[in-house]
Amino acid sequence: MKDSSFMPGTSAANIENRPQRVLPKILFLPFALAFLLLLFTGNALAEEEALIYKNARDRMVRTQIKSRGISDPATLRAMESVPRHLFVPETSVPDAYDDRPLPIGYGQTISQPYIVAYMTEIVQPKPQQRILEIGTGSGYQAAILAETGVSVYTIEIIPELAKNASERLRRLGYGRVQVKSGDGYFGWEKHAPYDAIVVTAAAEYIPPPLLVQLKDGGRMVIPVGSPFFVQTLMLVEKHGKETGTRSLMPVRFVPFRRAE
Ligand code: SAH
Repeated sequence: MKDSSFMPGTSAANIENRPQRVLPKILFLPFALAFLLLLFTGNALAEEEALIYKNARDRMVRTQIKSRGISDPATLRAMESVPRHLFVPETSVPDAYDDRPLPIGYGQTISQPYIVAYMTEIVQPKPQQRILEIGTGSGYQAAILAETGVSVYTIEIIPELAKNASERLRRLGYGRVQVKSGDGYFGWEKHAPYDAIVVTAAAEYIPPPLLVQLKDGGRMVIPVGSPFFVQTLMLVEKHGKETGTRSLMPVRFVPFRRAE
């Protein structure tokens, strides 16, 4: 048996063991094939599904957003890439790319895609800027802003929505968005001043702390008006002690609430 030393792995002991080893290996083969097949079809299905939603998103951008005059490339790119269907409750997934707001629970809504795009374009986000959002809701508007390369700070008054949005944003790769649970009336002083502020709930007047936390030359977009009627979307521009306001369009948002 001296020769065996030239053939590693074929010692007498190994030869004896061989039949026992071969049997499980053969049995393993169909399982491995089935597993690979499952993996392959699973992946193919996931890819097909992603493609269906990507097509729905491209159609949404073409027919609801570009066609209504939104042209900022960063905004359009963001709207084309954020998976809106992952920001709505499961029952609303088939409607995620429809031309309307959708309920997200707790009596709140995710805004219509066009309004999200409009509010993004109007504040002119640029990489490296800091933007404050009041009314995180699902986290969709925050993700759209983040896609344009800005740092996003967002406040939500309903703790459950804040928690869910924070988890969702992290899961979808928007972990840099900072979410705070609280009354957005007071802004978020720690990260002020902001290049822009986006308010996604209808206020009866512009909360003064938000104006203070807006940078000189900064822009705020906010729906102003009575909570249960049509409101006016306003653009507020701060120039030193002067504040310019411009009415943009009639809108309907959920009310800006105050902490009790
Ligand atoms: N931007 C959201 C839309 C949210 S709807 C999205 O993309 O999904 C408006 C949200 O503002 C609601 O979730 C509501 O709870 C929240 N909100 C109302 N008043 C608020 C306040 N004072 N501070 C922070 N959030 C407020």
